[in-house]
Amino acid sequence: MSATFMESTHGKIHLCYLGYRYYGKSKNQNGSEYWISVKCNATATSFSDLSVVVRDEHTHLPDGKEKEVLEMRKILKYKIIEESGSIDRIVEEAYHAIHAQPQSIDLIINLPAIHTIKNTLQKQRRKTRPPVPQTIEQLPSPLPGVYCKTAQGE
Ligand SMILES: [Zn+2]
Repeated sequence: MSATFMESTHGKIHLCYLGYRYYGKSKNQNGSEYWISVKCNATATSFSDLSVVVRDEHTHLPDGKEKEVLEMRKILKYKIIEESGSIDRIVEEAYHAIHAQPQSIDLIINLPAIHTIKNTLQKQRRKTRPPVPQTIEQLPSPLPGVYCKTAQGE
C-alpha cells in the first residue's frame, strides 16, 4: 500500500493511507512529511517514495469499514422486519457469508458479538410485529390484519 493524497473541502492536502485520513502538520528537512489523523491523535510520516509509517493506533475504524459495518447492520434490520425466518438463522447466514470472504476479517472484528446483534434484532422485530400466539385461545379477535394475509400479500 502506498500513500495517496486528496484535497479536503477546505483546499488542504490530506494524506490517505489504509482507509485513514490525515492532515499535514509539517514538512521535514529531508522531504518527509508529518501528519495527524483527522479523527484521533495517531500520527504518520510520509516519504518521497510514497511509503508511510504510522506511529500510533487509531481509536476508530478506517473510513470504508465504518460504512460497511453500518451497511451490514442496515441489511440485517431490513431482513428481520421483511422476512419471517428465525432471527438466529438470518444472523448466522449473514455472518457465515462474511466469513466466506477472507478480505472481510476487519469487518468481523468490528461487528458486535453475534449474541448482541441477535438481541438487538429480537427487540426490533418485537416492535414491528406481535408475538406468535402459543395457543388458538391466545389469538386476538378479530385477527390483526397482518395474520389475514397470505404469503402473496392477498
Ligand atoms: Zn485516527
